[in-house]
Amino acid sequence: MSKVAQYLQEHVIGEVLTSLDAREYFSTDGSIFKVMPQIIVYPRAENDVRKIARFSWQLAERGRLVPLTARGSGTDQAGSALGQGIMIVFPAHMNKILALDSNKNYVSVQPGINYGKVQQTLLTHGQFLPPFPSSMEYSTIGGAVANNASGEKSVKYGATKDYTKMLRVVLANGEVITTGRLSKKELSQKKGLPTFEGELYRSLDNIFTDNQDLIEKSQINVSKNSAGYNLWDVKGNDGSFDLTPLFVGSQGTLGIITEIVLDTEQYNPQKTLLVANFDDIVKTGQAVEELRKLNPSAIELVDVNLLDFLHDHNPNQLKDVVKEPYPKIILLIEFDDSSAHKQKKGVKKAHKILENYATAVVATKDSNEQEDYWKIRHSAAAVLWQNIGNKKALPVIEDGVVPVERFSEFLQKLYELFDSFNLDVAVWGHAGEGNLHMQPFFDLSQVGDRQKIFKLMDAYYEMVIAFGGTTCGEHNDGRLRAPYLVKLYGQDLYDVFKKIKQICDPYGTLNPGVKLDVTMQDIQPFVRTEYSLAHLYDHMPRT
Ligand SMILES: Cc1cc2nc3c(=O)[nH]c(=O)nc-3n(C[C@H](O)[C@H](O)[C@H](O)COP(=O)(O)OP(=O)(O)OC[C@H]3O[C@@H](n4cnc5c(N)ncnc54)[C@H](O)[C@@H]3O)c2cc1C
Repeated sequence: MSKVAQYLQEHVIGEVLTSLDAREYFSTDGSIFKVMPQIIVYPRAENDVRKIARFSWQLAERGRLVPLTARGSGTDQAGSALGQGIMIVFPAHMNKILALDSNKNYVSVQPGINYGKVQQTLLTHGQFLPPFPSSMEYSTIGGAVANNASGEKSVKYGATKDYTKMLRVVLANGEVITTGRLSKKELSQKKGLPTFEGELYRSLDNIFTDNQDLIEKSQINVSKNSAGYNLWDVKGNDGSFDLTPLFVGSQGTLGIITEIVLDTEQYNPQKTLLVANFDDIVKTGQAVEELRKLNPSAIELVDVNLLDFLHDHNPNQLKDVVKEPYPKIILLIEFDDSSAHKQKKGVKKAHKILENYATAVVATKDSNEQEDYWKIRHSAAAVLWQNIGNKKALPVIEDGVVPVERFSEFLQKLYELFDSFNLDVAVWGHAGEGNLHMQPFFDLSQVGDRQKIFKLMDAYYEMVIAFGGTTCGEHNDGRLRAPYLVKLYGQDLYDVFKKIKQICDPYGTLNPGVKLDVTMQDIQPFVRTEYSLAHLYDHMPRT
């Protein structure tokens, strides 16, 4: 056992693992990458995390870099839950609900708690967390906050950043801060602190003040965006200041989150679902643009390639739900307004819109029927679990977003791109937000396929950026999309990101190789030669 592992074992209460099989297990996440950590720690409490960070900082002061990577369930699709140093794995012990108040609409949790478990608990109180990712049964709240996750309800409710109220964060030097919106006066008190926290507030406030115009003009005009750092919600017009939005979506590169307070919403089980078939992409785009204005709680899409795939591989899954011949596109449009009158009005208007564009529409208020129809969208998961020979569906271009008004034009170009690569790709996603998911099939053991992946990525991300979109709406940059950040935002804003990173993490101990300072050449050696989602299975003790 290394001296670092020995030190940790003597100083933290949680378990410290260095066995090859544990390291091997944590060397993959949901991405195409493999990075071997040296040490795995299951922290028991915040104090363990502080000690680990402090130790890593002290080593860095002496010129030795031992990086820290926080990890939830490792479902990340872009390789950000991987690292070469110490892996701090939260679900083992730091997995509790700390407080829940359904009158004040908030829940406070430790980061390692399973998202689905929190959602279930909230539902029993008539509440829910709307920006849940479709992976919530496997993933943690900490991972969702660090990725700024979102999902099928985000078209109405927004992303995780819109629900994260306060955080406790262990900084690079082991100091702990509590974030939240500060008034001008509170900010100046913070700036007077003789601590690392004081230094952060002083330097970051300067950065935001000096670059206000650049920040404003660099905002990408899309409904959701998890690329880069969120600089747009930190400073309020009233002079208030909040570091919470900066840490949300920062993938453990600015600090390690140990406690999270989230706003919750009232859950209304009385919904109406419309299912609409389309034979034309342009008409779909027009319908989506108009439907959005009605404030539906979901506008989800699946294409005919997905339906064909399911027909070939899981023929029973959609039996009795979708009839052949399959339409080119199906949209699921949901209304969840708590006022029955308002909901009815929305549905009526949606029918009117769909009359102009769709080839067939059904609507239902029956929750069992709705569940059946939702299978159409949720069956997309089947693509991920299937093989085609040695080929697997890989997350390499799986999360781009374009402005909704350019959605149908984008979808057309997307199919042309797939044709030019001779690929048959199933497409699904959040049409209401211009956010499409797709995972083309490749065999990672084949050099030709590996080369093709990178060519496809270049062509795809160039196209998304040319459309005025963003490289990722939900799944964040990680390692995979980090090389595209300069192209996406331009060098000047990228330099602001770098300054922020330098202030929060001067020695580069926090999840290096993720988000910033990453080239294509850096990531290529980490590409796996096989792909599986085996990491979703449990590997850790639970208390
Ligand atoms: C099948 C599938 C479907 C998915 N669907 C969605 C979706 O609908 N929407 C969506 O947004 N994402 C989706 N994802 C991506 C991913 O599942 C989510 O982003 C999820 O929220 C990540 O949670 P996790 O616990 O697995 O985090 P991990 O993968 O363990 O970590 C994710 C990031 O969070 C950081 N992190 C974790 N804990 C902390 C902490 N305490 N402090 C600081 N940083 C931390 C990690 O370092 C890493 O950068 C999907 C993934 C898969 C495989």
